[in-house]
Amino acid sequence: MKPIKKIVIVGGGSSGWIAASVLAHDFRPDVLEVELVESEQLGTIGVGESTVPPFVELIKNLGIDEQHFIQSVHATFKLGIEFPDWHQVGESYFHPFGWIGTRFGMHDFYQVWLKAKSKGHPSELQTFAPCSAMARERRFFLPQEAPKTTPLGSAGYALHIDANLVAKYLRQYAEDRKVKRTEGLVTEVRQKEDGSIASLVLESGQEIHGDFFVDCTGFYALLIEKTLGIGYEDWLHYLPCDRAVAVQTENLGEPVPYTMSTAREEGWSWRIPLQHRTGNGYVYSSEYCSDDEATGKLLGYVDGKTIIEPSIIPFRAGVRESFWHKNCVSIGLSSGFIEPLEATALHVVVRGLDFLLRLFPDQHCDQALIDEYNRRMRMEYELIRDFIVLHYCLTQREDTPFWKRCKNMEIPPSLAETIELFRAHGTLREGVGELWTASSWQSIFEGMGIRPENYSARVDNLDYTWIESKLTEMESAINGMVRNLPTHGQFLRDRFGAI
Ligand SMILES: Cc1cc2nc3c(=O)[nH]c(=O)nc-3n(C[C@H](O)[C@H](O)[C@H](O)COP(=O)(O)OP(=O)(O)OC[C@H]3O[C@@H](n4cnc5c(N)ncnc54)[C@H](O)[C@@H]3O)c2cc1C
Repeated sequence: MKPIKKIVIVGGGSSGWIAASVLAHDFRPDVLEVELVESEQLGTIGVGESTVPPFVELIKNLGIDEQHFIQSVHATFKLGIEFPDWHQVGESYFHPFGWIGTRFGMHDFYQVWLKAKSKGHPSELQTFAPCSAMARERRFFLPQEAPKTTPLGSAGYALHIDANLVAKYLRQYAEDRKVKRTEGLVTEVRQKEDGSIASLVLESGQEIHGDFFVDCTGFYALLIEKTLGIGYEDWLHYLPCDRAVAVQTENLGEPVPYTMSTAREEGWSWRIPLQHRTGNGYVYSSEYCSDDEATGKLLGYVDGKTIIEPSIIPFRAGVRESFWHKNCVSIGLSSGFIEPLEATALHVVVRGLDFLLRLFPDQHCDQALIDEYNRRMRMEYELIRDFIVLHYCLTQREDTPFWKRCKNMEIPPSLAETIELFRAHGTLREGVGELWTASSWQSIFEGMGIRPENYSARVDNLDYTWIESKLTEMESAINGMVRNLPTHGQFLRDRFGAI
């Protein structure tokens, strides 16, 4: 065995610095040398500001003080996402983090609630989700500081972050742990006889050697595609949006503790509130809307004064045919992209690194490790793709050509099976999991108008009067808890001296 002694990361966006931080945390610098090359001339994509709960886990696992991180990257808390106008114009639903309801002994809450609905119970599903209740009242408190037995104790949360400040923060973290940063544009990639990567040549003429390379060059895909020739599998037929326009605005009022993702004529717009500003964008399909039209529409959707010029970001939904090839792994936008509707891209970066560490190779890069990595990452991307397509394909909107197309769109066979199974009994496919809990799927299905035709017959063991009284108890416990929490703005002020 010839251990890898040096890893070279190309790219200093969020994925590059997350990769550098994770590697620097996992390996002693005398065991593994890490060098990151980035070009200020090219810059980073500069978006990617909404996250999912595992991002908070990453920060904790790196040993970073959460309070310090939140203050440094001007973060706010995120309890979930509000989705106005997706099912029908004028309707809205919420996708919360954390759980919905508590189990009734051996029985899933959702199945019991379905039985209650079949008997005419008036409750909404989200009434039993602590995160939805907190979001509705714009209140927040850290779940880990609440007793585990209270509704708040097992709520979840993620963060809204300033992407540039996060890259800067993690750069400092990685450099403090001996990661070497080299500024420069890579103009040539030299390969060995077997096709693997030997070294990078910068514009200055400097040559950088490594045993293993991480391609974090974003949509440039300099190593994985331009050098190694690995193709891209297009998912445009499932996800027709292919461009975004982004702009930052001044905050008007207190930031809300959730992301807003509003369906629009040819796509959807996001609103991500930070402590010091708001990130906004319009994701659209170029088949139905020009860049100028999209920019005009976005400027009409935003509230506060704009603080930068709007920028257009083209993208293609899809994945690499192989994420890892020879001695190079692609992480971040170079490995694939699914539109940011559920803010999953940074999560996929972390998953990629997690799998890489679990399957860490020696210099030989055993093909069995490579194959397993590629299999797992593909599953990860396909699961996210299915979850995102679910938001579109169940729409009842027919008010624009874009929505007519979504209503009648082709969907992945795996998603068709998921929908069919859920429709029948509210059950989810084996293996659906990890990032999206059953509560997540139930929230989107309910919000998009799909409630299962039957509940599990096992629930008939439970007495309906008892179910009713337990539901009332749960609802009042959640409402009582939420009433006593500070507003999100107050919490940020008290804890972080923010806003
Ligand atoms: C519209 C949009 C909205 C998004 N919103 C979210 C969100 O809410 N949540 C989320 O999790 N994700 C989101 N994402 C994804 C997120 O932005 C990315 O996953 C994340 O920023 C990581 O990007 P990256 O580091 O892979 O690429 P980039 O940020 O593009 O960085 C690429 C790096 O490679 C360097 N580079 C490239 N070529 C060379 C070269 N030849 N020599 C030297 N250096 C080079 C560049 O200088 C740069 O440092 C969004 C993406 C888009 C397009």
